[in-house]
Amino acid sequence: LVRLSHVDKHFGDLHVLKDINLEVSAGEVVIVIGPSGSGKSTLCRAINRLEAIDSGEITVDGKVLPKEGRALAKLRADVGMVFQSFNLFAHKSVLQNVTLGPMRVRGASKKKAEERAMELLNRVGVGNQAHKLPAQLSGGQQQRVAIARALAMDPKVMLFDEPTSALDPEMINEVLDTMVSLAKAGMTMVVVTHEMGFARRAADRVVFMADGAIVEESTPEEFFTNPRSDRAKDFLGKVL
Ligand code: ATP
Ligand code: MG
Repeated sequence: LVRLSHVDKHFGDLHVLKDINLEVSAGEVVIVIGPSGSGKSTLCRAINRLEAIDSGEITVDGKVLPKEGRALAKLRADVGMVFQSFNLFAHKSVLQNVTLGPMRVRGASKKKAEERAMELLNRVGVGNQAHKLPAQLSGGQQQRVAIARALAMDPKVMLFDEPTSALDPEMINEVLDTMVSLAKAGMTMVVVTHEMGFARRAADRVVFMADGAIVEESTPEEFFTNPRSDRAKDFLGKVL
C-alpha cells in the first residue's frame, strides 16, 4: 500500500534519509523506532510530502506522490497523520475540527460530515466532548480528537509520529488503546514511538532506524529478544 524505494534526502550537508526501502502492506502495522535524530520524523513527513525528497520514489496505493497542487492535496488526504502536538484548530469546536476536512476536501455535506464525526468521536471515546473547544479537553482527549479528525478523511494509511510523547503518563494508555483498536480493525499504520510495550503488543513489523538508514527490520519478537545489529542492541539496552 505504501512503498518507498531508494529514498534519499539531505538537509544541507546532513544525509538524513539514506537509501530507504520500505513496503507497508494493507492492514499492516509497522513501528519505527530508533535514537533521536535518526530520521524517523523526516521519514513520516516524506510519506505525505510535508518534506520533499531528493531522489527515490514514494507511492501510496500504487500512485507516485505528486509534487504539488490538487493532486497532492487529494493523495495527501489518503494519508492521515497524527503528530506529537495535537495541532487542533483552537477556535473551532471538537466537532468542527473533525468535520472541516471532509467538507472542504472530500466535498461532504455538513449533515453527513457531522454524522460521521460523531461516530468517530464516540469510537475514540470523546463523543461527549463534541461541543467543547480543544483547550477544554485533556491532552489525551485532544490527541484522540486528532485521531478522529484524521480518520474522518477515510485515509488508506495512518501515520503517527510519537503521538503520546507530549502526554502525561496517565493519558498515554488511553491513546495507545485507541491505536491498538484501530490496528485490530485493520487500519494500515506506520507508527513512530518510544513506547516499547505498545510496539511489542501492536506491531506486525519493527523497523529500526539509525543515522538515517534502516538498520534492521524484523518481527517484534525477533527484534526485542534477539536484535541483530550492535546499534539496536545498544538502543534497546538504553530504553528497556
Ligand atoms: P526524534 O526521535 O528526536 O524525534 P527523529 O528520528 O524524528 O528524532 P528527525 O526529526 O527526522 O529525527 O531528524 C533527523 C535529522 O535531521 C536530525 O539531525 C535533525 O536535526 C535534522 N533535521 C530535521 N528537520 C530539519 C530541518 N528542517 N532542517 C535541517 N535539519 C533538520
Ligand atoms: Mg521525531
